[in-house]
Amino acid sequence: MRVLLIGSGGREHALARSLAADPAVTALVCAPGNPGIASVSLSGGAPVVLAPLEVTDLEAAAGLAVEHRVDLVVVGPEVPLVAGVADLVRAKGIACFGPSQAAAAIEGSKTFAKDVMSAANVPTARARTCTTPEEAAAALDEFGAPYVVKDDGLAAGKGVVVTDDRAEALAHAASCERVVVEEYLSGPEVSLFVITDGTAVRPLIPAQDFKRIGEGDTGPNTGGMGAYAPLPWAPAGLVDDVLATVVTPTLAEMRERGTPFSGLLYVGLALTPSGPRVIEFNCRFGDPETQVVLALLETPLAGLLYAAATTTLAAQPTLRWRPESAVTVVIASAGYPASARKGDPILGADRVPGVLHSGTARRSDGSLVSAGGRVLCCTATGPDLASARHAAYALVDGVTMPGAQVRPDIALRAARGEVSL
Ligand code: AMP
Repeated sequence: MRVLLIGSGGREHALARSLAADPAVTALVCAPGNPGIASVSLSGGAPVVLAPLEVTDLEAAAGLAVEHRVDLVVVGPEVPLVAGVADLVRAKGIACFGPSQAAAAIEGSKTFAKDVMSAANVPTARARTCTTPEEAAAALDEFGAPYVVKDDGLAAGKGVVVTDDRAEALAHAASCERVVVEEYLSGPEVSLFVITDGTAVRPLIPAQDFKRIGEGDTGPNTGGMGAYAPLPWAPAGLVDDVLATVVTPTLAEMRERGTPFSGLLYVGLALTPSGPRVIEFNCRFGDPETQVVLALLETPLAGLLYAAATTTLAAQPTLRWRPESAVTVVIASAGYPASARKGDPILGADRVPGVLHSGTARRSDGSLVSAGGRVLCCTATGPDLASARHAAYALVDGVTMPGAQVRPDIALRAARGEVSL
């Protein structure tokens, strides 16, 4: 199987490693890829090929699929999916793992997602879509503090403000064209990834990520500062419960609308005292949860994604998992998430297994520098969470970068058995 992977982050580095390890894969092209992905090689020894691409250039992405005669395109980021890259690829007669533009609206518009959930009776926060400051103010008072205000469109995980400060909530609403104001959901968060061909599903193991920049879940939201899986504290039956109450009805509603959802449905949940509630849907693998989930997946990935892309998932065996734990710790650049200082020299991150590249660049002299907000994801496994944490932080300690921001408490409370429902 010849595969084209679109994207350039830590998620794509993890995807590239798993795709390359699948013996069925004979060629892997990553566009645009990154310096970490450049050093991945296939199980047969062939190197990954990097191709330049602006991921918002959909025609160019579909053109690469044709040029490299691939059998499968795997799309990492949401932006090209929401813009319709999967439709373009399929129009060329090539299988694509990722939803159509119409189905990707489940992430592209929070109002659309709420509409689908309401039609499908999926448990979620009550919400109001607001376009004026007056509407936003009324919605804030309806639901009360803590206030939750979400930019209606894509915002790279940074469009959400959760605050007790009404003025801050109002100011965020005023800075967006359209916001969704919703009721606050309390309880631990879970990310559940579900591979689907529109009807059949294969859930991956639940993971948890750490959205806030600061230790103890303080400071602004980020794209994610770390993650771990599995969740020792999660209730037995959680996955089956979420499949029954969330995933099955959502997929049925999407089929009924004539826009079946295939690809990866990312269900972000809060486990509230009254049961799991959906915080958000995403239409692709989450970053950095992918790094830990794929570290534990034993089933070859390419065959699985190809089956989802060709509506043959029901014939796939159930997934096999390593009976271990995985932890990933993000090294972010100075200034992140408000801004991201670039060009800081990075030492100790080249070709270290487990150090996945998120935002790095190679200078012409061969040195590695930071090139984004999240720079590296140090990912390790171990027999239990405590040992996986230990190994992930050992990788962090091996890297130096001026101004590096690292949360010291990724998976800490779970490893100590302190997370409870
Ligand atoms: P989202 O982009 O919708 O995932 O939101 C980012 C983060 O904001 C989530 O992971 C939660 O930590 C938080 N959040 C979003 N919606 C809610 C809510 N209704 N109640 C509590 N926290 C929320």
